[in-house]
Amino acid sequence: MAHKENQYDIVIVGAGPVGILLSLCMSRWGYKVKHIDNRPVPTATGRADGIQPRSTEILRNLGLKRQIMAYKPAKVYDVAFWDPLADGKGIHRTGSWPSCPRFIDTRYPFTTLVHQGKIERVFLDEIEKAGTTVERPWTIIGFKNDGLDETYPVEVQLKCIDTNVIETVRSKYLFSGEGARSFVRQQLDIQIHHKDPISYVWGVMDGVVRTNFPDIETKCTIHSDAGSIMVIPREDNMVRLYVQIASSTDPDFNPRKTATVEEVQEAAKKILMPYWVEWDRVEWYSVYPIGQGISERYTLDERVFMGGDACHTHSPKAGQGMNTAFHDALNMAWKLHAVESGLADRSILKTYESERKDIAETLLNFDARYASLFSKRRPTAGEVGSASHTAAASGEKQEDEFVKTFKSSCEFTSGYGVAYKPNVFNWDPSHPAQSPLFDIPGVKLTSGRAFTPSTVTRLADANFVHLEQEVPANGAFRIFVFAGKQNQTKKAIADLAANLEKERSFLSVHRRPDIADVSFFERHQPHSKLFTLCLVYAAQKNEVDVETVPQILRDYHHHIYADDIPDVRAPGAKFAAHEKLGFDPEKGGVVVTRPDSHVACTVQLVEGSGTVDALNAYFNAFSSKPLGQDGQQSRLYNDLIIQNSPYSRVTELRPTDTPEEPYYYTFKVQCTSCRETHPNWVSFNRFEQHEIPGSRGEANFVWKCKLCGKTHSASIVAGPNTYEADEKRKGKKVIDIDCRGLEFTEFKADGEWEAKGTESSTPFGGIDLSDSEWYDYDEKAGDEVSIKEISFELVIRLKWGQTEYKGRLESIDSYMNVLLRDTEEYIDGKPTGTLGLVLIRCNNILWMGSADSVEMTDLGLR
Ligand SMILES: Cc1cc2nc3c(=O)[nH]c(=O)nc-3n(C[C@H](O)[C@H](O)[C@H](O)COP(=O)(O)OP(=O)(O)OC[C@H]3O[C@@H](n4cnc5c(N)ncnc54)[C@H](O)[C@@H]3O)c2cc1C
Repeated sequence: MAHKENQYDIVIVGAGPVGILLSLCMSRWGYKVKHIDNRPVPTATGRADGIQPRSTEILRNLGLKRQIMAYKPAKVYDVAFWDPLADGKGIHRTGSWPSCPRFIDTRYPFTTLVHQGKIERVFLDEIEKAGTTVERPWTIIGFKNDGLDETYPVEVQLKCIDTNVIETVRSKYLFSGEGARSFVRQQLDIQIHHKDPISYVWGVMDGVVRTNFPDIETKCTIHSDAGSIMVIPREDNMVRLYVQIASSTDPDFNPRKTATVEEVQEAAKKILMPYWVEWDRVEWYSVYPIGQGISERYTLDERVFMGGDACHTHSPKAGQGMNTAFHDALNMAWKLHAVESGLADRSILKTYESERKDIAETLLNFDARYASLFSKRRPTAGEVGSASHTAAASGEKQEDEFVKTFKSSCEFTSGYGVAYKPNVFNWDPSHPAQSPLFDIPGVKLTSGRAFTPSTVTRLADANFVHLEQEVPANGAFRIFVFAGKQNQTKKAIADLAANLEKERSFLSVHRRPDIADVSFFERHQPHSKLFTLCLVYAAQKNEVDVETVPQILRDYHHHIYADDIPDVRAPGAKFAAHEKLGFDPEKGGVVVTRPDSHVACTVQLVEGSGTVDALNAYFNAFSSKPLGQDGQQSRLYNDLIIQNSPYSRVTELRPTDTPEEPYYYTFKVQCTSCRETHPNWVSFNRFEQHEIPGSRGEANFVWKCKLCGKTHSASIVAGPNTYEADEKRKGKKVIDIDCRGLEFTEFKADGEWEAKGTESSTPFGGIDLSDSEWYDYDEKAGDEVSIKEISFELVIRLKWGQTEYKGRLESIDSYMNVLLRDTEEYIDGKPTGTLGLVLIRCNNILWMGSADSVEMTDLGLR
């Protein structure tokens, strides 16, 4: 077993964009990180250089924007399109378009150009400050998830390239940020799918030029009779030129084709004609072969993960490589934090792959189209000039495909088009959390998309602040309470506070253990490291009476704001933040954003417990601990039923089950968190009580799943009932079991049963049903008595308030999606009908139909 000093929360391999962002978050959030890179020194120059608007927002949230801007990067606001003139007379500008058009609501409507090495340096300094050093030149030579240590299941072997020293460490997670040639990916035998069979070789050159080309300080895409080129302005008077050297569509394509600096310069000179260009110096030059690929999987076991170029590669033209890597890393970081901090079930780690792979697929689809249009384009005379606003407005010219693709993709390439699909984090009507208060009508926020910026006044110091940046990237969920007008929402805010104070609220359950010692100066996490609350009143600064704000909300005194700053995007609005986002200033509303600032859900702000109930239900969908009040939770019961018992001349069959002689009910058990059915039988009786760890009360049966380590419980809440003779073939419930986090899947009739002679009332004890049959003789009645072919069935009963659904369990998952067969509905204990096959998501019937018409796979449950 590894010594403590060789145990890490995470081993990160690779210190490119994906590795450094992940390393920074994990180090800052208190994790022990082992971070290596096989290069002796960080990137000195060149490579990726474009930081897109949404990434700038992320960098600011990480507190790094200022350091990056200190490099005085070039900022690209516009893209100019240049096309050939007729008769080989060179090129001319045919139009321009904003790099980040106005319809995208961002504070940074530009691409920031500074080379990857400088960006990495900013990160590396901060990583060092957070206590982690990137060790160089080290490489990974082996790893396995052998589970030999439950807490640190992954063994990783690392080697120092200089000294050949080998170090073996154990870790909770291994992350490969190794770039396109990932060793980890190869070892896992995960394939790369090539979306676009075409690959390219690019020449990339950074240098200082003298030229009379008028758009040298603007991003340009230039198509000429001599070829195509992309011009990107850079810091320190530099310019980057991308020249396509070869494409696999060329008849003589050679992926190893290369070109010298002089050849690329010559090509650039020809393309830019009639303008001239000369180089003062070349800072970096690279020939960059690139194929378009996406990794089949990003993880196989939710212990060893990959991200960045290890998972997706594409052309550099849309400036997405580093940006996509940043997004991957942030997504990974907060999800690992959610699990390791105890907030969420491990199952949520699956959403890293589903969310990020989906975005990579969109990127690759866009890139394939864009790359081929860029290199293949031969404009027709009618297309020329079509990109310009004026020309487009006059309707004279037809817009070409390349320009159209560029424009329609601006939202995606800016990073604001990232829209995660509904899942356990991104609420939609199929989410396990159900309440009519979700999804406020009129609110212009979409679950899964980045939170819209708004400017408000912070009451603590009267500063104008950017609300979306007020909570730093600290791994916490953010709960923005748009509190509307204080006099209108006073009761709703008081009720919100009162319900947040309750013991089972998400805030209380995940309270920080050191709450008594929290610093007076703690701004963001006074109660819980996992949530920050912000309160925005629709009022002028001096109108808000902070003294009357309930204490639990006042504890976030740096997060109480007045919505009194005008916004050009909400012209004439008195309460611009409320109105721009679509909140009624009379009523307000609540927005939950994930730690990466993507909207999770919106909930109406109402009097009573409804708002907090809905928030509890939302967090309960992935919380590792149950949240909310008992009455609001749906409960699963197992009913043990006697079935098909043709028996003669006995009745009132029941287990012998008294305090003196308790019956031990014996079952096979399934964990609903990890869905593992355990091979051993378990037994318990209804009289013994056992304590549930974590002060969660007592239960007859407390059980820790060996696979996922979660503790679950069950208690017999009714029965045992007797099975009367005239109930033959109808089935009879013996006991009700309240199950929490587990299901019983099979019953074994160990132990003794009792019955009476039907006519004689002769008592029979010690009946052994383990062989499903029993014979005896009733002396008083003078006849043989028997029980034959007795069978037992476990029926699931889902109870929500007064409504119950009872049926045979086909399938269940950790989100409480339950598929029941032969389901019956009961309201207030009265049967309302037989529903057949029913899929229940938490407590909403999603689908019902006859058993024959549907395959389980159709429902995604098998
Ligand atoms: C030559 C070149 C030029 C590029 N030019 C552009 C461009 O002009 N524009 C653009 O947008 N993108 C460009 N890219 C792509 C861009 O740099 C990447 O998309 C981006 O860096 C992805 O970040 P990453 O962290 O996933 O991988 P990388 O930046 O590739 O980082 C991976 C890191 O892991 C290290 N590593 C690899 N294997 C191991 C190992 N086994 N053990 C330890 N360490 C390891 C590497 O040394 C490297 O530091 C270029 C890439 C290359 C290679």
